Amino acid sequence: MKALKVDHIGIAVNDLEASTKFYTDALGLEAMGTEVVEEQKVRVAFLPCGDAEVELLESTAPDGPIAKYIEKKGEGIQHLAFRVENIEQAIADMQAKGYKMIDEKPRYGAGGAKIAFVHPKSTNGVLVELSER
Ligand code: ZN
Repeated sequence: MKALKVDHIGIAVNDLEASTKFYTDALGLEAMGTEVVEEQKVRVAFLPCGDAEVELLESTAPDGPIAKYIEKKGEGIQHLAFRVENIEQAIADMQAKGYKMIDEKPRYGAGGAKIAFVHPKSTNGVLVELSER
């Protein structure tokens, strides 16, 4: 398995609209609309920049993973996503090499992607997302 590129950087925010302003107003990026991913209790906005995207994540519930993340660490960079060609293969390769997956099977991600998270214990503290789309 070889990651194809940095797909996006996931940033946990309290207020999606307020946070979008910096990226559009100061950096001149364009927000591609928002999407709610019920399963992960998040509302997401993607802002493409060159070959990668900024993904802003706002929690839709107090017990959601993003709400919990902000409670513990405050707003900020939450995960780093790499594009892979075949996510099932990527998961199998990771596991064969002894890396621990949070998701042993792909799940639905914003924008119709198939995603899986690698456990931060296997990545020196970085929450790494694999994304196929
Ligand atoms: Zn992501």
